Amino acid sequence: MAVGVEEVVKELRSTYTSGKTKTHEWRASQLKAIIRIVTHHEDEIVEALRSDLKKPELESLFMRIGQRICLLCIQCFVLINGGRFFSFFFDLIEILGSTPKTQNRALGPAILYLQTQLECPVGLLCVFPVKTSMTTFPASGEIVPEPLGVVLVISTWNYPFLLSLEPVIAAIAAGNAVVLKPSEVATATSSLLSKLLGEYMDTTAVKVIEGAVPETTALLEQKWDKIFYTGSGKVGRIILAAAAKHLTPVVLELGGKCPAVVDANINLKVAARRIISGKWGCNNGQTCVSPDYVITTKEYASKLVDALSVELENFYGKDPLQSKDLSSIINAHHFDRVAKLLDDEKVSGKIVFGGQQDKTNLKIAPTIILDVPDDSLIMNEEIFGPLLPIVTVNKITESFGVINAKGKPLAAYLFTNDKKLKAEFIGSVSAGEAGLPFGGVGESGMGAYHGKFSFDAFSHKKAVLRRGFGGDVAARYPPYAPWKVQF
Ligand code: NAD
Repeated sequence: MAVGVEEVVKELRSTYTSGKTKTHEWRASQLKAIIRIVTHHEDEIVEALRSDLKKPELESLFMRIGQRICLLCIQCFVLINGGRFFSFFFDLIEILGSTPKTQNRALGPAILYLQTQLECPVGLLCVFPVKTSMTTFPASGEIVPEPLGVVLVISTWNYPFLLSLEPVIAAIAAGNAVVLKPSEVATATSSLLSKLLGEYMDTTAVKVIEGAVPETTALLEQKWDKIFYTGSGKVGRIILAAAAKHLTPVVLELGGKCPAVVDANINLKVAARRIISGKWGCNNGQTCVSPDYVITTKEYASKLVDALSVELENFYGKDPLQSKDLSSIINAHHFDRVAKLLDDEKVSGKIVFGGQQDKTNLKIAPTIILDVPDDSLIMNEEIFGPLLPIVTVNKITESFGVINAKGKPLAAYLFTNDKKLKAEFIGSVSAGEAGLPFGGVGESGMGAYHGKFSFDAFSHKKAVLRRGFGGDVAARYPPYAPWKVQF
């Protein structure tokens, strides 16, 4: 495999050096090919996701309906993978549906992409003028985005289609050659991506390499112009170390323990429903931005537990292991990992809702654990599954200390009506973002993407200074006679 990898990178570098991937025609043709993939192969994609993640029927149906409505009504492709929208298809349509009104057609798609995101007037020039300093006067300056070169995208299993294609689309829109390494854990989606991208894309510039640790290790030995990684922080450290050898820039989209702070005197029913839908409603907790734990006050905790229990039963019935609306755990390894968090004696006596397990069908019921000690395993590892610990504090502002004592989370949620608390939360809690730009901070990652930020992640902003031959002042050149110093 290692030899094959070297060959692949050589081929892609040769294609990139030829300049082909920088052209408008190439970028547009590849983006159109991706649109064909998702429209012509919708059923296969849905089936692969179902096979990998045992997604509830409704999530898959929603995907189909969502896509068809958009196709019919607004002629946009909106594809949902497990409840998350492929918002970038709006960008794609903008790229493909417009004629670049720029001098430099090679940058057309990129600029249109930016215009969409920045809501710039169509027809903006492909360069962004910037002010220059007195030392270069008379001159003009501009920023020209250029592709980075040959890039590597390593993706994960929980949204295996979305998290693979989204960075690939951005890399192509920015004019790069790209290798995608999907997650071996989502086997069906990985092999479908390999098949479809192999059939539809220009394989001299876009390749899929399937595999697990040995294959990824071989890929990481190569020199890349950017590595875009989505997965755990543990592997993120391996990626960063490998990238450092070649001074390769990275985007690390990692996870973490995302807190949800619940203040008193709120609409508890709505809060409970939203916590449930964020935690169990997508992939049964196997989502990077799912609330990992909840913090509330000691006096409010029982009300919150009651509200969550009522709504959980409304959503998933009295026997949630039988519910068709809950995804199963991805595989036996992850089942055991989540079950171990519950086996901890510091946790097992504190279950106030759920706790049922069915290893044969890889199902774990939504489980609430109250007053978990801070030194328990569950409070020190990302759960990435259907368990929800509730931590209680005397005053809600004490929650900031609890959150900040852990690694910086990818997302943090606050349910309150108190304006002062909202401001204090924003000022005190550092987290990544669940909207735009999407990316973590500290333990939850580095770099960001989505929309314009995806384009930026795969572009270099080249500074171009233009100077004419006029206005050349002799005083700046040697010999440095005394009069020049006085001047
Ligand atoms: P995973 O097991 O699929 O691993 C991710 C990728 O790393 C895979 O492609 C895998 O082949 C590769 N890999 C695994 N071990 C490796 C090694 N030793 N050397 C080199 N490559 C290796 O996924 P995971 O790590 O279980 O993913 C779950 C994590 O991903 C969670 O922490 C979650 O929060 C995070 N996540 C983050 C985002 C985000 O957008 N920030 C999205 C989804 C998941």
